[in-house]
Amino acid sequence: MIKLHDQYFKPFISEAQILTAVQELADKIALDYKDETPIFVGVLNGAFMFVADFLKAYQHPCEVSFVKMSSYGGLTSTGIVETLLDVSENIEGRSVIILEDIIDTGRTLQELIHMFSNINVKEFKIASLFYKSEIYNGEYAIDYVGIEIPDKFIVGYGLDYNELGRNLKEVYQLNHKHMINLVLFGKPGAGKGTQAEFLKEKYNLKHISTGDLFRYNMKNDTDLGKLAKSYIDKGDLVPDEVTIKMLEDAVDSNPDASGFIFDGFPRTTAQAEALDKFLSTKEMRINATIALEANDEILIQRLLERGKVSGRSDDQDESKIRNRFDEYNQKTAPLKDFYGAQGKFHSVNGIGAIDEITMRLGKVIEEL
Ligand code: AMP
Repeated sequence: MIKLHDQYFKPFISEAQILTAVQELADKIALDYKDETPIFVGVLNGAFMFVADFLKAYQHPCEVSFVKMSSYGGLTSTGIVETLLDVSENIEGRSVIILEDIIDTGRTLQELIHMFSNINVKEFKIASLFYKSEIYNGEYAIDYVGIEIPDKFIVGYGLDYNELGRNLKEVYQLNHKHMINLVLFGKPGAGKGTQAEFLKEKYNLKHISTGDLFRYNMKNDTDLGKLAKSYIDKGDLVPDEVTIKMLEDAVDSNPDASGFIFDGFPRTTAQAEALDKFLSTKEMRINATIALEANDEILIQRLLERGKVSGRSDDQDESKIRNRFDEYNQKTAPLKDFYGAQGKFHSVNGIGAIDEITMRLGKVIEEL
């Protein structure tokens, strides 16, 4: 195990496996191009090591050049691809083979293809040492692939995490065992959302609020939003299968998070069971469920006040609020026992100043 900046990484692909894949790529490409002199174009920075080993494995006439692009800031793709260095050789009429270290969403590739689209090359091929087929947008066929990998954040052999790790001879993957995953538990108005905002900054966690996700979908009038609206308007819970799927998608779209705060999920035993099962397929788990406790009369006052500002219809009507409490008592409260049986249930007094409550929560988290 190694540590780069704030994250832990464990060995994933050995040096020998990498070099074998590089040799196989070189052999495959040689079959197609050994009778001419192709230009290999390495994509900096990540591909420098791959290009060096590839050229040593490709023992036929060839030229090499580089372009430089960047799309990653930290652990998740920012989606913005910058071209920092353009290809300078005269490549008109030549066969160009791009050497990429990794293809994931395909955004960098798109930019590359755009870059070469005005040049009249003889052939344009893409070779990538690593390839995340699960998340690739599929817009352009990848001609030569070294190793297909699942959607995990990797470092080493040229690839970095905020510039560290490029000099590792083997490839490492993010180790989820060091993640902290928390469930913030409590009745509507208990302050889960407010506290999550502070905790996510303090502990570098991704905050997933199912209520916020539903509201986002309702605002944008998506199919999911339309479906959820009828339940939310009455203060009823949205059906499990819908909510579970939405939650899983939210987790999946953050493969590099160093941990999650689940806010407003799970709210039923079926959801809690589904969450455990889903996380275990990813070698992840819930570390703690922390309940913010406050009595109903205080919560009703808080929600009615919030309703005046937020405009949330489910916060403006006392009967809807009481219905949400009923839903909580019937369906959500049993989760105390569910998590209690796993030794993960913690209770915190939710009445007091916001920063005081953050401190109480922090105390529980730091003792984990
Ligand atoms: P919240 O913002 O967490 O109070 O959620 C607002 C509303 O969204 C709830 O009253 C439910 O109708 C719906 N909702 C949020 N999370 C869930 C969940 N885990 N299961 C079912 N419904 C949910």
